[in-house]
Amino acid sequence: MSTQESLIVIGSGPAGLTAAIYAARGGLSPLVIAGPQPGGQLTITTDVEDFPGFPDGIQGPELMDRMRQQATRFGVRFIDSSVTAVNFQRKPFAVMVGETQYEARAVVIATGASAKWLGLESEQRLIGHGVSSCAVCDGFFFRGKPIAINGGGDTAAKEALYLAKICERVTLIHRRPELRAQQVLQDRLRATPNIDLRLGYEVEEVLGDTTVTGVRIRATTGEQETVLVSGFFVAIGHIPNTVPFCEAVRCDAAGYILSEDGVHTSVPGIFVAGDVQDRLYRQAVTAAGMGCRAAMEAAEYLETHD
Ligand code: NAP
Repeated sequence: MSTQESLIVIGSGPAGLTAAIYAARGGLSPLVIAGPQPGGQLTITTDVEDFPGFPDGIQGPELMDRMRQQATRFGVRFIDSSVTAVNFQRKPFAVMVGETQYEARAVVIATGASAKWLGLESEQRLIGHGVSSCAVCDGFFFRGKPIAINGGGDTAAKEALYLAKICERVTLIHRRPELRAQQVLQDRLRATPNIDLRLGYEVEEVLGDTTVTGVRIRATTGEQETVLVSGFFVAIGHIPNTVPFCEAVRCDAAGYILSEDGVHTSVPGIFVAGDVQDRLYRQAVTAAGMGCRAAMEAAEYLETHD
């Protein structure tokens, strides 16, 4: 079975839904293939207080519901499945969802990235209840309280410095004796009085029944310790959701889709938006902005290549 579309948007986070809204209003009648977690990463956060237009904040899942309702209102169609294969060498482009082939003259890839987690049962149970993977999103909830953060890269260092301004105390836990973060960030960490570095420690368990009360850590030498905290941030990297796209468009070594301007990919007619190509900002509002740009570029492409 095969259907033909003007534009397929792959992904349904802020980037994909914004692209779909703009494309629909521009008359492109887009089809969104929503992916394994419709709504994306915001569906696993709680309050979103920094998305403009919501002075009292909004729950992440509700924000994504509203974006989807807005897209539906303009006639966007959704398929709540995942793309399993693509062929961007042929025209029209082919996008496979299992056995079903969809054809499109342009495609926006907005599949986002997934935070890496430690994989502990206690960590997974307490996500949104004291465990977070985004300091900028959730740090404010822990103002004046002690928190811990796990990771040794630039993200962990930057988030620790950000959290130190809001929180009472920040314990940065990293599995090796040396941090991976840039030296300038390491210097800042060491110069910040309310940051404790616990290097050479792994997190064994996040403590707490319904909300985080601490973390149990173990040194490489074997001794265990409990750090009492109200929040636990995991900053051990992200994985861009680019399977199966890196076979079709150029990606960097970490699997992020390469784009010189944040919207065009190496294949004309295939556009990208949001965290799947952005390892730095990773905000709903920046993803939405790129979704808008991708839809406008796709419209321009379709007009000039018809
Ligand atoms: P990253 O550089 O890959 O660092 C991930 C950190 O998490 C590493 O310290 C790693 O430990 C640790 N880690 C990984 N898996 C772990 C596990 N299972 N358990 C415990 N620890 C684990 O990721 P990132 O910090 O998110 O940065 C990603 C990229 O964005 C980097 O290229 C970075 O330079 C860039 N970035 C730049 C800026 C900037 O301001 N310029 C800001 C943020 C990010 P090991 O060190 O032992 O491997």
